[in-house]
Amino acid sequence: MSKRVAIIGAGCSGLTAIKCCLEDGLEPTCFERSNDIGGLWKFTETVEEGRASIYKSVFTNTSKEMMCYSDFPMPQDFPVYLHHSKVLEYIHLYAEYFDLLKYIQLQTKVCSVKQCQDFATTGQWDVLIENHGNMCSAIFDAVIVCNGHYTDPYLPLHCFPGIENFKGRYIHSRFYKTCEEYRGKTVVVVGTGNSAGDIAVELSHIAKQVYLSTRHGSWVVSRISYGGFPIDMTLSRRYTMWIKNMMPKSLAAKISEMAMKKWFDHANLGLEPKFRLKHPVVNDYLPSQILQGSIMVKPSIKSFSKTSVIFEDGTESEVDEIIFATGYSSTFPFLDDDIIKLKDNDVCLYKYIFPIYLEKPTLAFLGLVQPLGPIMPTVELQARWATKVFKGTAYLPPVRKMESYIAKSKDGNNKWFGVGRTQVLQTHYIDYITDVSKEIGIQPNMIYLFLTDPKLAWQVFFGPCTPYQLRLTGTGKWSGARNAILTQWERTVKPTKTRILHEQPQPWLNCKKLLVMCSLLTALWFCSRASLKAEHNGYLSFRGSFWTRIFPTISISSM
Ligand code: FAD
Ligand code: NAP
Repeated sequence: MSKRVAIIGAGCSGLTAIKCCLEDGLEPTCFERSNDIGGLWKFTETVEEGRASIYKSVFTNTSKEMMCYSDFPMPQDFPVYLHHSKVLEYIHLYAEYFDLLKYIQLQTKVCSVKQCQDFATTGQWDVLIENHGNMCSAIFDAVIVCNGHYTDPYLPLHCFPGIENFKGRYIHSRFYKTCEEYRGKTVVVVGTGNSAGDIAVELSHIAKQVYLSTRHGSWVVSRISYGGFPIDMTLSRRYTMWIKNMMPKSLAAKISEMAMKKWFDHANLGLEPKFRLKHPVVNDYLPSQILQGSIMVKPSIKSFSKTSVIFEDGTESEVDEIIFATGYSSTFPFLDDDIIKLKDNDVCLYKYIFPIYLEKPTLAFLGLVQPLGPIMPTVELQARWATKVFKGTAYLPPVRKMESYIAKSKDGNNKWFGVGRTQVLQTHYIDYITDVSKEIGIQPNMIYLFLTDPKLAWQVFFGPCTPYQLRLTGTGKWSGARNAILTQWERTVKPTKTRILHEQPQPWLNCKKLLVMCSLLTALWFCSRASLKAEHNGYLSFRGSFWTRIFPTISISSM
């Protein structure tokens, strides 16, 4: 009999979790408290309890080729960056194409998830649900938590002494929908995350004055990169990650910092962050609105009077409204505290997915990570691993190993991104997906690929790290992956190339590419020699030899 899996939430994490369960022969039941699928991407005019709320003008900050599911490219005619309504349309297309809707129970809230008494032997969970006021419970062999992490606003009023004196209105960004009611007003937006940037820019067109109050500053990058291509397709590439990981951290950090500064000098615009490699904010208009004076960047708020705020630099401004875009807290009201402990958004999960102290690995969390990249393919990969662990075809290491892994990765991430509740879940996207894909053996084998299919290998290693790369090999291999990779640039320019000019077809291999490829193969050859020498001397035991890592199916004796 197939194992029954409860999935909490039918946003983009829950939907892909259903699909992965089905692919692994598990029996999914997805509970969604609202009346539709899509989670955060389902815009409503009013805020719904228990579901994330977005403002009317949200556009994605990741491009369509980078943020789609790995075996379901977005339609050619979709814009490169999507309005929230288009993301919802895509989510519906996905659910319909893979026939996922019949596994979802809408308007069904999960109230509690408790370990069954014989959990140590069965790993089963008792799930209590509520549907239109009726309560009932059912036993499941495993649970995947996909309840989203941008629902509970973090409003740290204790950090703003004297706020009770302020007679104007203040809200959290969760409750911001449109700018209309702020016409002609003076507004302070607190924070410099993506919400703060978007809201400040939108308000700056109609408000009398917008102040952007930041305590640590932020890097701001444009959606657009060289040649008008999306920035994530330009920056998220395996070879750059490979080079970054070979460099001393301080040098890699310096280079990344220089890249962040390339667009404009952040210090001149008051935005330079205190942490060197803080997660960047994607905003094309913020610098120009600052230059136009419609947005004025200020330090933290020190205190409030009835009608004004006093900033830490001693300046005071009369203010009508305050919007706290201070982020969110992850919460799991249906789980006991001893199953998942959260402190300032920090969690102790193996590779951001599995609690490490359970007797049986039958609980997984999706999306509780902030990669410097898209969420959808990340949660899809997490789900692919989780369902294999539930099925028993993938395994978790002993607790000791998981503890030391978590400590090591936290330390590494703190060094890159800084310490704090905004930074605590941040990771490098390609490093993270590489790490997880190794767990289920779907990591593309670069040398093998260069030898057997150089055209594809070129795109995989030097091109954008699009999700289709996770479908080239291993379980879940998708026959359309190769073509999806080779046509990703066509889909990228298709919606914007609306005035066609005659062009000469470009050969995929030119002198420059050939030179880079030869240098790379030579570098790999040198690495392999050094690695073999080290093995011979007994230095390398961790995770197998160089060659067995590159050619997992060929033993060293056959080389
Ligand atoms: P959600 O979409 O929040 O879905 C969770 C679902 O669980 C909801 O439908 C909710 O109703 C349901 N639920 C909650 N509790 C229960 C319960 N007890 N019982 C039953 N159902 C429950 N990421 C990107 O990659 N690119 C972007 O451009 C991007 N833009 C973003 C813009 C904004 C404004 C925000 C806030 C986030 C953005 N993100 C972006 C990140 C975003 O969180 C993910 O893209 C994605 O939506 C997360 O999906 P999810 O399914 O994990 O959570
Ligand atoms: P966020 O990224 O967590 O940012 C919170 C901001 O609030 C940070 O700038 C933080 O400052 C500040 N802050 C927190 N506590 C503070 C305090 N006590 N005093 C002063 N400032 C404080 O939250 P968000 O911007 O709402 O974004 C949530 C998620 O949604 C992110 O993943 C984001 O990428 C996504 N999002 C995407 C889009 C888009 O695609 N267009 C739009 C909005 C949001 P520090 O940095 O100094 O800690």
